[in-house]
Amino acid sequence: MIPQPKGAADIVLDDVAFTYEDMHMLFDVTMKAGGIISVMGASGSGKSTLLNLIAGFERPDSGRVLIGGADVTDMPPSARPVSMVFQENNLFAHLTVEQNVGLGRSPALRLTDADRVEISDALARTGLAGKEKRLPRELSGGERQRVALARVLVRDRPVLLLDEPFASLGPGLREDMVDLVMAVHAERGMTVVFVTHQPEDARRIGGNLLFLEHGRVVAEGKTATFFGKDGPEAFQRYMGTGGASA
Ligand code: ADP
Ligand code: MG
Repeated sequence: MIPQPKGAADIVLDDVAFTYEDMHMLFDVTMKAGGIISVMGASGSGKSTLLNLIAGFERPDSGRVLIGGADVTDMPPSARPVSMVFQENNLFAHLTVEQNVGLGRSPALRLTDADRVEISDALARTGLAGKEKRLPRELSGGERQRVALARVLVRDRPVLLLDEPFASLGPGLREDMVDLVMAVHAERGMTVVFVTHQPEDARRIGGNLLFLEHGRVVAEGKTATFFGKDGPEAFQRYMGTGGASA
């Protein structure tokens, strides 16, 4: 077994029920501390809702959410040990790159010299050195997502949630960005939950996979197994590769 990295936290959704109108979701799942977990499933299967329940943007109708053993069910998002990156709009349009990253350190941007060193390291680490003073609109889509990742680095939380963060980027760039997430994971060892509808992303990441249908986890296990010939039937159906016995 890989030793559990310092600062990582496991995530438990203990019989978490959540309803949108006639969509009843139920999650009962554990994600290991320091793991990297891809989440796949058709549009509307509940991937974003699963992340929002962990982050605290949604509250369960019943059940509990635990992070690192602590019950966070009643905690607001800002109090949870979590960072989240969305597909877009992660940045404040009127703040520079440097300031957007600085928010990960201090919401009021009261930054110490040590904070500034961290911010500059994170910008270098994500390939953004020299772009500190730019505004989000002066960056490419890929660069904006790098800024969001730089902010994750300076926030340094035990859980990182990514909701289709690179969906609007082209394939080559997406690979680079996935590699950057993996490098950040290798360096910090936080628990990473990565929602993607791109099978190549999940394969590249390796680790474990959760497959959702209709607001439930219908298959989970090693990502490599999902993509092998003995992958879960529901997943093969989704991928259009199985179904002979269906
Ligand atoms: P995914 O991220 O897998 O595409 P979501 O978690 O966004 O799925 O949505 C799961 C289900 O909840 C869908 O059936 C969707 O229609 C419904 N839903 C999501 N957000 C809302 C909302 N704000 N109001 C009503 N229904 C919603
Ligand atoms: Mg979604």
